Amino acid sequence: AAPGVRELMPYLPGKPISELEREYGVTDSIKLASNENPLGASPLAIEAARAELDDVWLYPDANGFHLKQALAKKHGVPVEAITLGNGSNDVLVFLAQAFLQPGLEAVFSQYAFAVYPIATQMVGAKANIAPALPADHATMPLGHDLRGLFHRVGNDTRLVFVANPNNPTGTWLSGERLKDFVGSLPPHVICVVDEAYTEYAESDTLGDASTWLEEFPNLVVTRTFSKAYGLAGLRVGYALSNPGIADMLNRVRPAFNVNAPALAAARAALDDHEFIAETRRVNSEGMRQLSEGFEKLGLTVIPSAANFLLVGFNRSGAELNEALLKRGVIVRPVGNYGLDNYLRITIGTRKQNERLLAALSEILQ
Ligand code: PMP
Repeated sequence: AAPGVRELMPYLPGKPISELEREYGVTDSIKLASNENPLGASPLAIEAARAELDDVWLYPDANGFHLKQALAKKHGVPVEAITLGNGSNDVLVFLAQAFLQPGLEAVFSQYAFAVYPIATQMVGAKANIAPALPADHATMPLGHDLRGLFHRVGNDTRLVFVANPNNPTGTWLSGERLKDFVGSLPPHVICVVDEAYTEYAESDTLGDASTWLEEFPNLVVTRTFSKAYGLAGLRVGYALSNPGIADMLNRVRPAFNVNAPALAAARAALDDHEFIAETRRVNSEGMRQLSEGFEKLGLTVIPSAANFLLVGFNRSGAELNEALLKRGVIVRPVGNYGLDNYLRITIGTRKQNERLLAALSEILQ
């Protein structure tokens, strides 16, 4: 294997539901494991994807003309600022391919999204990881420490990855502080602000980094259709940046990386404002329901601005996960992040949340 590849920590996806149900002898399980939208996708998006199936012998539009037009309008940026990805995971990899190499570094936080170390190491670059804020931090336990990140940035740094909010912690940074951080970075460093969960943020504290693009030529903002837009299975995400950076990203982007049903669905999903509003409403209510439920059970709940909660226990998350699986509840253990006594739980519908809380309460008795 190429240098660094053998040392990669593989991304750990869950098993398919049908396989888990067979293994644990359950039916009718609920999946609160992958931060998917419990409402599904916008009906407009599904219809648009279906219509494209009639034409699947044709290659998709390699430049995603219509989707890019709509995104340019949504964000008030030129189409040249956009790089489309097969999920935002794809554009994170393009960033590493275009800007890192052996001898160079990416800086990010402990407990940051698992794809940052994978993308960094796959091109032979070094991951320079800043410790997260401590678990007993007063306001943002396990959150990103901007000062710590800043101190890691050096001559060999080319990328800094910051997820706002972050996965798997759900923690966030105020837009004001994050903007100051981006402005403080030297010009040879690109700051990637990953806004995969931004639609869920309940207050405007987090800001919208896409509105800072004109000010910072070294800023890249990534977004996805996998979460609030409910299109995880179709794989569409994108990066916004200055056109010079987008040009480099598009040079490494494989032609036709986003398929035709996905392009059409994403384009249609952008117009369904009602669906996003309902998604946000269900998430806010579910967040309250679950936080209260977890606190009643005496558990530690890490503050979250996303569609999931990181929950701390006084015992192993892997064991609790097994017990939940036996009850048909699929959540995400996060031992691979070094968070052994935690589970990451996606906020579901009211009924799903009730079922999860009932199962947990039974297990913890
Ligand atoms: N960034 C963050 C912070 C995420 O949690 C995820 C999904 N787990 C992604 C990016 C990538 O998602 P996708 O490739 O589906 O857009």
